[in-house]
Amino acid sequence: MRYEGNIFRPPSEAHSLIVQATIGCAHNECTFCSMFKDKRFRVRKREEIVEDLEDARRRYGRVGRIFLADGDALILSDDDLKAILSKIGTLFPECERGGVYGSPQDVLRKGAHRLAALRDEGLGIIYIGAESGSDRVLKAVKKGVGAAEITEAIRVIESAKINASVTFISGLSGSDGWEEHAVSTGRMIGEAQPSYVGLLTLMAEPSAPLYEDILSGRFRLLSPLGAVEETIMLLEHTDAKKDCVFRSNHASNYLSLRGTLPSDKESMLAELRSVRNRDDLLKDERLRML
Ligand code: SF4
Repeated sequence: MRYEGNIFRPPSEAHSLIVQATIGCAHNECTFCSMFKDKRFRVRKREEIVEDLEDARRRYGRVGRIFLADGDALILSDDDLKAILSKIGTLFPECERGGVYGSPQDVLRKGAHRLAALRDEGLGIIYIGAESGSDRVLKAVKKGVGAAEITEAIRVIESAKINASVTFISGLSGSDGWEEHAVSTGRMIGEAQPSYVGLLTLMAEPSAPLYEDILSGRFRLLSPLGAVEETIMLLEHTDAKKDCVFRSNHASNYLSLRGTLPSDKESMLAELRSVRNRDDLLKDERLRML
């Protein structure tokens, strides 16, 4: 297996075989993100990806899931993706799910019909970094896409009968405007109806552009108890009409939360309200990580 640079994958792909289909991220401008700042984006040659899959087949026993890294493998042409997914099906008949990160622009460019053809070849989940439902926040962090496009992209994925797993970031507006970030994010979840939502908490590493803003005081971080209040407001404004697995149990979170919306909404809210003003019950800052 050949890996180039640091490899990142969603938490739920922890036990998956990871194969790089791209190197880096085509956008690579989000101010809070340090994942691929050291990589120049390129799509790997199809032959190289296939060679890696063949190598993995020789090395590993049962492979239940395969995640195609890096930043946005959905940028590959339909021909390449179909060929790779088909190869996965041949080499790993036991593989239950292929997954990729996808940008909203890639999703909208392909559309539901073409995504459905990829689903037929084994694409089971697309991870989208939405980060916020607020256009103001998305613009401030240079996400390069607006809330309406993100909402539509999530709907398109789900309409192609592929699971959309969407990440949001608590604290992304800092201590200024957190209410609007919370309300608009909750509303986006209700409007887009993804199968999975992951809520991380902002942590900027030194190589992330936002880090300088934090050091200089231009960006004021939300406090741990502020993050609790923000999550309460977010959930209060989330109106999920179908089951949505909501996880806020990432290593970056101050409080571990997991449930299925809408049924577990009130119990998750009760858990959050029980730690209001109790920062002694939240994760110690030294134990947080990305
Ligand atoms: S958050 Fe996602 S889209 Fe933004 S730079 Fe990082 S990998 Fe690229």
